[in-house]
Amino acid sequence: MTDTQTASGAAGAATGETIEHWIDGRLVAGYSERTGPVYDPALGVVQRRVRFATSEDVDTAVHAAARAFPAWREASIAKRQQIMFRFRELLASRTDELAAILTSEHGKVTGDALGEIARGLEVVELACAMPGYTKGEYSENASTGVDVYTVRQPLGVVGIISPFNFPAMVPLWFFPLAIATGNTVVLKPSEKDPSAAIWLARLLQEAGLPDGVLNVVHGDRIAVDALLVHPTVRAISFVGSTPIAQHIYSTATSHGKRVQALGGAKNHMLVLPDADLDLAADAAVNAGFGSAGERCMAISAVVAVDSIADELVGKISERMSRLTTGDGTRGCDMGPLITREHRDKVAGYVDVAGDDGASVVVDGRDPEVNGEPDGFWMGPTLIDRVPTSSSVYRDEIFGPVLSVVRVEGYQDGVDLINASRYGNGTAIFTNDGGAARRFQREVTVGMVGINVPIPVPVAYHSFGGWKDSLFGNAKAYGPRGFDFYTQEKAVTSRWLDPSHGGLNLGFPQHE
Ligand code: NAD
Repeated sequence: MTDTQTASGAAGAATGETIEHWIDGRLVAGYSERTGPVYDPALGVVQRRVRFATSEDVDTAVHAAARAFPAWREASIAKRQQIMFRFRELLASRTDELAAILTSEHGKVTGDALGEIARGLEVVELACAMPGYTKGEYSENASTGVDVYTVRQPLGVVGIISPFNFPAMVPLWFFPLAIATGNTVVLKPSEKDPSAAIWLARLLQEAGLPDGVLNVVHGDRIAVDALLVHPTVRAISFVGSTPIAQHIYSTATSHGKRVQALGGAKNHMLVLPDADLDLAADAAVNAGFGSAGERCMAISAVVAVDSIADELVGKISERMSRLTTGDGTRGCDMGPLITREHRDKVAGYVDVAGDDGASVVVDGRDPEVNGEPDGFWMGPTLIDRVPTSSSVYRDEIFGPVLSVVRVEGYQDGVDLINASRYGNGTAIFTNDGGAARRFQREVTVGMVGINVPIPVPVAYHSFGGWKDSLFGNAKAYGPRGFDFYTQEKAVTSRWLDPSHGGLNLGFPQHE
């Protein structure tokens, strides 16, 4: 194995032009000659390459984490908490640096990148509150002279696998809680925008985290599959598309691990006739086109009741005409898509919409941009009267394409949403409290917004969808996050004195 001791490059993560793994507190090139491209999507050029780990590299990282575990587990709660507080302060004071990395590799505009970091920072703050969430319970004198209590202990080495669309926030959903509760981590970020993870690992080192507690390996399915079957890895946290989430869940659980696997989405926003249509149109545009639609909580289908559908479509398209698309550093509303291949796939849905019987109201395939011509551009697109049989409605497009589906009334709308295979987020726009309450009870979706289009729960609640948007029952962060990264031990204790002597082979009973 070759060690690469120094770092350079925009993200502070690359050695020369190649982004290396972070193992045991330093950059490590590992065994592999395989690398992948990391684009600047606004320029359409490869700006650096990233190393793809072999299973031996993953093994090296897992062993580093396993070696670090005994001492980290023994570190006092106060010590772990102090490191998290320092990490929080460093991160809060250097958000511009991280935002620049996000914009350069993902493409999202600076304001959106700062928003992503702010939501990640919330989870670091939650990790600082770890003692309150993980303290056990105590029953004194459960039987005469016998006390029963529970303690929550870390699992050991945990693996985290994250998607391209939130290169900072999704890792931050997981590793702060995993580390604060005494686990050690191997993180495999998306190979499309890997520098943010290395930047975060360096920052944690600066905050005083011992080497080996957080390791980062880069790569593709070879690295992921090595983590899923590694006998030392106790748990896997995954976020990504549904087919991969399913693969992660079945493989890792069959190898005896606890798994949280969050998948894809197709989020609906139901607009009832009594809603404030201006506010609903604002919300549909913000939630449909923020981050160029590359959000798992993006609204991708507006479900409009017939009587107000024309008016709503008019208001949405008028607002879309004011959006600017371009380089994320130039004050635009929307940046590029992640790769040319993805951009072409998204545009392909607009190609088929007409044949499927839908009508393209705003066509973003050839947008005016404030950016370089080779960037991966796709402008905001609105497609009305989308049939539910069309792939435009059924697939998770993951781009700036908003569909409108028309329904007769509330019941049709709920039935449509409940028939979707996905159940990540949904929203209802109405001024009728009764309808909103009924919706919240009846809809088969994990996160519900009432006049809120992107209902991502705050850090002290937990995040997760239903149906094909989450495999297993373990949600991310919040109280469920602390449960996931700890195992409960129940202790029954008696301090012996001579009155406890004597033989009795019966099952213990309370006295
Ligand atoms: P993806 O599923 O392609 O990749 C996610 C991770 O899995 C990456 O680290 C990738 O390297 C790895 N991976 C890819 N193919 C693999 C394979 N065949 N075997 C093993 N590992 C593999 O997802 P993406 O394109 O990076 O991210 C977008 C997807 O993530 C969308 O579907 C989006 O809805 C979803 N997402 C969901 C949530 C949520 O909270 N539910 C949040 C963000 C993103």
